[in-house]
Amino acid sequence: MSDSLFHDLPAMEPGWVWLCGAGPGDPGLLTLHAVNALRQADVIVYDALVDDRVLSWANPQAEKIYAGKRGGKPSAKQRDISLRLVSLAREGRRVLRLKGGDPFVFGRGGEEAQSLVQHGIPIRIIPGISAGIGGLAYAGVPVTHRDVNQSVTFVTGHDQSGATPSTLDWEGIARGSQVIVIYMGMKHIARISAALIAGGRAVEEPVAVVTSAATEHQQVLETTLGRVAEDIAESGLTPPAIICVGRAVLMRQVLDWQAMAAGAVARDLDPLGRGRPAEAG
Ligand code: SAH
Repeated sequence: MSDSLFHDLPAMEPGWVWLCGAGPGDPGLLTLHAVNALRQADVIVYDALVDDRVLSWANPQAEKIYAGKRGGKPSAKQRDISLRLVSLAREGRRVLRLKGGDPFVFGRGGEEAQSLVQHGIPIRIIPGISAGIGGLAYAGVPVTHRDVNQSVTFVTGHDQSGATPSTLDWEGIARGSQVIVIYMGMKHIARISAALIAGGRAVEEPVAVVTSAATEHQQVLETTLGRVAEDIAESGLTPPAIICVGRAVLMRQVLDWQAMAAGAVARDLDPLGRGRPAEAG
């Protein structure tokens, strides 16, 4: 990449914190602003879901601080991370806070940014490709498709305490959104799928479970709402996973581009049964 490109991108000033999304995995999904930040930061505070290859693009002199936490009891630690960012910035360092996916999508980026502003630290926000969109695209699932949905709901399977979000109106979600994209849903999938079925969704409704999306370990399980919990347990799949509920999942039969790149043929050229070429109206 030419250096003149980076010349046109903003300089990172000492004492600033840039809160940046690293995308779901594949380093090619970083934004130019993210690469620009990696090249300049003195210190990088990164999360568990940030790919090692992304970090390898950092300035070699940069200090790298792991701030990962997986599953459960985040609150005390979250406060530590926020205060750590404040003190690094006060030392006059150029701080890059790197988060998986997009920092403002189920990533507590809003809380960290708020706390920085409350402490008078200047910030910049760099969005990233969220796993619930880009991770599904890597599995060949479009989150919206004209024949399927006019809306999509992104939902977390955990609340602050790590329990299923009991405050969520699962019936309302079941009724109101043709496609539901669940983050952090593995642990409580039995309860979530039962709640969606109780809310009126069909047991045969297609579901895709995409683990480690956009990484070399990506795996995709295609199943149904009635079987998803059992199939996950049998498959031995482990988080991180995006679970997509809805007929958009059927499009994978024609859009599994990674399988096709490896020589497979599309399983069904018209999985939604439109009966005509996609370009025809
Ligand atoms: N800010 C992130 C989400 C953080 S919450 C984003 O925008 O993507 C963490 C959850 O995100 C995981 O439990 C999982 O549900 C999802 N996730 C993140 N990266 C993923 C990946 N590469 N593959 C599958 N799921 C992923």
